[in-house]
Amino acid sequence: MKKNHTDMNRNKVLLTASISLLLWAASGYADSRCEIAFPDIAGYTTLKCDFHMHTVFSDGKVWPDVRVEEAWREGLDAIAITDHIEYLPHKGDIPKNLDRPFEIAGKKAEELGILLIKGAEMTFDTPPGHFNAIFVQDIAALEAKVLLDEAKNAHQQGGFIFWNHPDWQGHEKGQWIDLYTTMVQDGLMNGIEICNGSAYYSRAHQWCLEKNLTMVGNTDIHGPSMRLANTDKDHRTMTLVFAKEKSLAAIKEALQNGRTAVWCEDKLIGKKEFLEPLFYASVTIQNPLPSNNDIVVDLHNRSEISITLDRKGDTGPKTIVLGAKGTTRVKFPLQTEPFVYTVKNFLIAPEKGLPIKLDISTVFSGKTK
Ligand SMILES: [Zn+2]
Ligand SMILES: [Zn+2]
Repeated sequence: MKKNHTDMNRNKVLLTASISLLLWAASGYADSRCEIAFPDIAGYTTLKCDFHMHTVFSDGKVWPDVRVEEAWREGLDAIAITDHIEYLPHKGDIPKNLDRPFEIAGKKAEELGILLIKGAEMTFDTPPGHFNAIFVQDIAALEAKVLLDEAKNAHQQGGFIFWNHPDWQGHEKGQWIDLYTTMVQDGLMNGIEICNGSAYYSRAHQWCLEKNLTMVGNTDIHGPSMRLANTDKDHRTMTLVFAKEKSLAAIKEALQNGRTAVWCEDKLIGKKEFLEPLFYASVTIQNPLPSNNDIVVDLHNRSEISITLDRKGDTGPKTIVLGAKGTTRVKFPLQTEPFVYTVKNFLIAPEKGLPIKLDISTVFSGKTK
């Protein structure tokens, strides 16, 4: 009887161990990283970044190192954790400690190879609204009564500062005010979030072009990210940074020099000088098959985004959709001149797609583009 009891206990232990092993294996399996396919462009590596997110240390719902795990799973290279400085609804449970989220997330970031940027959200009523300061050293030392002073402190610490979600309190409250002009002139506003989550702010996009400010797009995520895979229809809003190398210093340098694009829903938004090389690095013309007056080619899109081409010239199919990471077979009339199109969902200005040319003849004559 006693022996049986011992055996039962042993079996129980074995069963528990097996279940633990299964759970461990299952969690190991779930921890896979989805790489995001955007090619590098000449001289630069294309880094996928999210510069705006929250943890339990302000009004977020997750512990800081979970943000790093999410970023790793979703294929990001770099993140900034940017808890609010002025809005701490959990402070009854989690004492105010503005620099703590970065410390907690740091070890996990090192472990997983995620570049972790120290940041904070300077949070004031709109206007002037919310601004992120990233690449700062000492968040507690930023705190001041007004945004301008806080931004000055961030600037002194070498921070990169951008205006968050300009239209979140409505179009009227999101107007450009004199304070912003002062901030731009004094180097206290270096960029604007032209996309926040699924929202795209065309007016902010225009301001970035007119005032030469860096375009960023971020999640501003508060709850846990449950996404296990990225698709071109369902993915994080993110900033693509064209950096000289994969390092924190290189990201900061690229941000300071405006080398970014924003991937939001089905759109890629950025300056022509970056979207153009990104298009040509993404799309290749392959396998030409001429017949009579036509030529059939494979247009291969190796990027993560579906690309919609609208015809601007007189010849070629009216619309061509190149699925993400896929090949599309297209028939063109045989001609030596390139086909003229606009990439409808690569926005180089509000409602303005990127003009491109498809030079089929170079492939036909054996050259590659
Ligand atoms: Zn905000
Ligand atoms: Zn926020």
